[in-house]
Amino acid sequence: MNTPTRTYDAVPAQTVAFLGLGVMGHPMAGHLARAGHRVTVYNRTAAKAADWAKTYGDASVKTADTPQLAAAGADIVFACVGNDADLQQVTTGADGAFAGMKPGAVFVDHTTASAEIARQLHGEALRRGLQFIDAPVSGGQAGAVNGALTVMCGGDATPFARIKPVAMAFSKAVTLVGGSGAGQLAKMVNQVCIAGLVQGLSEALAFGQRAGLDLPLVLDVIGKGAAQSWQMDNRGKTMVEGKFDFGFAVDWMRKDLGLVLEEARRNGAQLPVTALVDQFYAEVQTMGGQRWDTSSLIARLTRG
Ligand code: NAP
Repeated sequence: MNTPTRTYDAVPAQTVAFLGLGVMGHPMAGHLARAGHRVTVYNRTAAKAADWAKTYGDASVKTADTPQLAAAGADIVFACVGNDADLQQVTTGADGAFAGMKPGAVFVDHTTASAEIARQLHGEALRRGLQFIDAPVSGGQAGAVNGALTVMCGGDATPFARIKPVAMAFSKAVTLVGGSGAGQLAKMVNQVCIAGLVQGLSEALAFGQRAGLDLPLVLDVIGKGAAQSWQMDNRGKTMVEGKFDFGFAVDWMRKDLGLVLEEARRNGAQLPVTALVDQFYAEVQTMGGQRWDTSSLIARLTRG
């Protein structure tokens, strides 16, 4: 997907780095470049960084061979990698960004990771004279491509105020929800909402199919009433058609629900439906759906 042109607020140009040019990071870094910031990118698979530079390349973008080299001289270092272990590697691992950052620079982590690693890295950053904001995102690939992500942040107010206008290049909202780790906890709340809702929608559609209803018509009708949701509007019809080769992968959702269930074991929250839906997603994985969109929960109800 190409990053479409969008308008950007006038913000003084910053020197920034972006680590991780995956489905999300590639377009996010692209918006930073288009907004006029001096961007250096790092990607573990170097060919993707070269591809990114070709797409957004002008005199103000560069590629670097390690997170440490990318972070050197940056005011803000953004990252969007896979999980806790990956984040550990690009921050404090060999050639990690923390070793290259200048005093006072801010590391902004857009990975969906645990609240625990956010707090650990926040503490480690402070010890080194750096700042750390956990900043997971919602809005999916389309949100990243369109520069319309919702970013939920945890950390300290002063560095947050510095990064917010810059992160708005790829966002429609960037909000500080609490201290370190609170951004990751807010993302967990988001995922609990989605898991239960998608299972409810799957059951409703599978029921409607068995009842012999014209489901596209029914979705148009009930989508104007109290049952309406983002999932219904954006996924209802494709669920009926059995199309799942797009969107947010089941493997990622299982990682996220694993983080949620682990946090719930610590804080005592009861999540019976979420735990069950996590097992349903495990079943979808065994059906070959690791990379299917999360709306594929319906597949286990409509097979055979
Ligand atoms: P992705 O396409 O798989 O990209 C992951 C990126 O992280 C790649 O650039 C990968 O490098 C890099 N990476 C992974 N492990 C690394 C390591 N150990 N060291 C250095 N780089 C490493 O994933 P994505 O879809 O962009 O998702 C990224 C994060 O955003 C995940 O935490 C995900 O849960 C979250 N998220 C995703 C979506 C979505 O719709 N996709 C929505 C919201 C949140 P290589 O190119 O070398 O593999």
